[in-house]
This record gives sequence, C-alpha cells and structure tokens, in this order.
Amino acid sequence: MRDFTNDHSALALNTASLGHNLDGHGAGWSPERVIDACAERGFGSIVFWRREIGSRAVAIGERARAAGLSVAGLCRTPFLTGAEAMDRQAAIDGAKSAIDMAAGLGAAVLTIVVGGVHPDTKGTEESLKILTERLGEIVPYAAERGVKLALEPLNPFYAGNRSCLTTVRDAVDICDALGAPNLGIAVDVYHVWWDSDLDAQLQRAGAGRIFGYHLCDWLAETRDVLLDRGMMGDGVADLRAIRGSVEGAGYAGPCEVEIFSAQNWWKRDPGEVLDVIVERFRALC
Ligand code: ZN
Repeated sequence: MRDFTNDHSALALNTASLGHNLDGHGAGWSPERVIDACAERGFGSIVFWRREIGSRAVAIGERARAAGLSVAGLCRTPFLTGAEAMDRQAAIDGAKSAIDMAAGLGAAVLTIVVGGVHPDTKGTEESLKILTERLGEIVPYAAERGVKLALEPLNPFYAGNRSCLTTVRDAVDICDALGAPNLGIAVDVYHVWWDSDLDAQLQRAGAGRIFGYHLCDWLAETRDVLLDRGMMGDGVADLRAIRGSVEGAGYAGPCEVEIFSAQNWWKRDPGEVLDVIVERFRALC
C-alpha cells in the first residue's frame, strides 16, 4: 500500500465536500478560488460537478492545470434509468453532453450514477438490462472523445430512486458484458464499506477497470443517508482495509474526498475543511 504520511499528492478534492453542489450550502467559492486553495495545500487533483462548469469547461480545466492540479474527474451523467430517464433518446443525449463537457475540461473520468428502478418495473434486474443497453450506445461516443466512464454503484439505500446499481459485483458484470476499455468502476467508501465481497470483486475488476476511489466515512448514527457523510476517521468504515483491497487490485490513482454534510462540514469555513481533509488523509486513510 502507498504511504501517504508524508506525501499527499494522491489526494483529490471532490468540490461537493465544500457544499458547492447544492444551492444555499457552502461558502459559494468560485471554481478558481477552490483550485487555488487546493493547490496551496498540495492536493494533486480536483473533481468538479457539471453545475460549476457551465460553458467554461476548457477555461476551468486549463486554470486547474496551470495551478498544478490535474482534473481527476467530472460528476456526473444525468440518470440513465428510472423516472427521470423515461425518454431513452433524451437520457442518451444527456449523457453525451456530459461526455462533451468532460472532454472539454480534460477530465480523466466521467462518473455515472445510473438512476433508480425504471417505471413500470419491479426489483433491479430489468433496470440493469435497460442500463446496459443504453450504455452500449454511450460508451463508444466517450471512447471517441478520450473519456473514461466510471460506473459508481451506490449504497442499496438508494436503489429505488438513485441507483439500481448497488454492488461492485453488478458493476463489473456490466463491464464484462460491454467489454470496452474505457468503461470501469468507481469505488466509494460510503457505498461499499459494508460489502464482505468487496475484495474478491475488486480483484475481478482488476487495475485496468478501477477508475476512481472516493473517500469519506459512514457515521454509525447517520441522520440523513444523502447529506450526512462523515469525515474520514469519524465513522465505522475500515478505511485502510478498503484502500488495501483497492490497491491490492492494482489501483494507483487519486484518492478523492467526497463529503456531503449539510449540517456539519458544509457549515464550516472551506479553508478549515481542506486543512482537516489533508490532516486526516495523511494520518488515517
Ligand atoms: Zn462517490
């Protein structure tokens, strides 16, 4: 395993950790200000959300690289299944426009949060089939533009309305079915910490298909499954063991801190949040 005690250049900030992705939260810093604050503290890379980028993808990407940061990713495609994705062509077009933005930004990876159970179906099996079929059209479009797509399985809590894809196993199954080099997975501590099959499934995925590793913690007494993520060290996830599995499978990329925390971290000064992230990453992750 890599040793981050004295070197946190693998650390990436997902800007959601500063509350920017929801109206009324966070300090409202511009992308430029976030870039500079991360660069000053020695972060190696940054991950943006589409709403921060708008039509400025090329300029923001260049600005990040000029400050010494790589753009590790862009969050995320619109949903591909579920109630918001009833219109197949609109769902595919939405994903393609997110791919165009990722290409303009020079983002290494575009994350896919797939969407919930498709209307008029029950369980997840049918929705996963719909997802796989739609991905079949999107993946080549991304490949032509040099964009990698990372399927992010979400905690089963969200299966109904946000992600019918809930396990690394199902995500790797879809990667196997489509067999495209630019389709892989993102592993987020919040979503996988409970999974006793994680190590085996990551071995199955292999280094070439793990495109991202996301850090936070699961608070034992969580108050809100969407907006009460913990800072690393404050919860019950075995962070070292999970990174051991991810790196044991061959992953050597950025470790992206992604904390949605409306009642705690989003209320604090972003500079303080960034300082705590660096400290916890070095000591505990
Ligand atoms: Zn994530």
